[in-house]
Amino acid sequence: DSVFSNIVRAPEDPILGVTVAFNKDPSPIKLNLGVGAYRTEEGKPLVLNVVRRAEQLIVNDRSRVKEYLPITGLADFNKFSAKLIFGADSPAIQGNRVATVQCLSGTGSLRVGAEFLARHYHQRLIYIPLPTWGNHPKIFATAGLSVKTYRYYDPATRGLNFQGLLEDLGSAPSGAVVLLHACAHNPTGVDPTLEQWEQIRQLMRSKGLLPFFDSAYQGFASGSLDADAQPVRMFVADGGECLAAQSYAKNMGLYGERVGALSIVCKTTDVASRVESQLKLVIRPMYSSPPIHGASIVATILKDRDMYNEWTVELKAMADRIISMRKQLFDALRARGTPGDWSHIIKQIGMFTFTGLNSEQVAFMTNEYHIYMTSDGRISMAGLSSKTVPHLVDAIHAAVT
Ligand code: PLP
Repeated sequence: DSVFSNIVRAPEDPILGVTVAFNKDPSPIKLNLGVGAYRTEEGKPLVLNVVRRAEQLIVNDRSRVKEYLPITGLADFNKFSAKLIFGADSPAIQGNRVATVQCLSGTGSLRVGAEFLARHYHQRLIYIPLPTWGNHPKIFATAGLSVKTYRYYDPATRGLNFQGLLEDLGSAPSGAVVLLHACAHNPTGVDPTLEQWEQIRQLMRSKGLLPFFDSAYQGFASGSLDADAQPVRMFVADGGECLAAQSYAKNMGLYGERVGALSIVCKTTDVASRVESQLKLVIRPMYSSPPIHGASIVATILKDRDMYNEWTVELKAMADRIISMRKQLFDALRARGTPGDWSHIIKQIGMFTFTGLNSEQVAFMTNEYHIYMTSDGRISMAGLSSKTVPHLVDAIHAAVT
């Protein structure tokens, strides 16, 4: 008998489980709108040209070796990642008061930040939006933080519950950490306006709440790296402190390379260097040091003006295709006369549309139309193409009528 015979089977991850079910379906018309990864108009994964170019340079450079990186990762990668999110002219970077460490994509950056806070920050309580990416509560709870939610989405308007957000953050205890999606909120696709961000900033600063930005979609939302980083930069411009977790999964298409960064903006250079020394103590027993390949690709691209420009063009093309899918889906539902107001499809931003379909309707679409998505009705616009829009419209139409 196995010493593990009493192990109970764990449930499938709610997001990754969608793909497991999709892969099992033999139907030729099946469509996976669950996965948060970009697909071309032909439904294929995309490796950016500029990424291929950078990889060629790396492979051909015989001076490159496979030595361990430092615990904090590739120095150039960290420097240019901080510039990317905070801006080249950021007062925090110029003041040399940002501690940046390379981590395992966005998830790893959030986790290292969470572990650091659980060990060293006086208020071990984090507020996350309701709803949020399903991994958030698990990441923070596993690190030992208490997790509470703040109101974010209003199902009635399919928009932001701004009043509820202000009330919940307004009654949070001083010092509490607040997780903020830097742009393209997942799963709702609903972001505050810049004016609302400014009100959130003032409230949070006046109450001494600590912002922790999750930036998984910089450039992928609007097509502009600077525009998508604006909320983060507002919080840095006021001189206050914050954390930011960056992922290159979506905006450089480096999903499986697991490349990201955690930055902690501090008040002084001295504090930042002490923070960095403690981040090393978090990382060392977790995975010792991060992998070299993906970070080398990113550093190669960010350092070179020509490659950087090529990246921004390819990034904008991905963002534009997604925006165009929103328009096509919206127009097709209208043309079909599907009951309901679908304008949220074109108002929401980023990779996902929060359709408002309920779990029974989702199950119906999966069973009858072989369309796969998370049970909260979130669909990945990146998984859609001009060819598959009619099939999706048929399914939605049948589900709501
Ligand atoms: N944060 C949000 C909101 C996300 O949607 C994702 C990916 O789906 C991540 C973080 C982290 O992704 P990764 O660890 O692949 O960078």
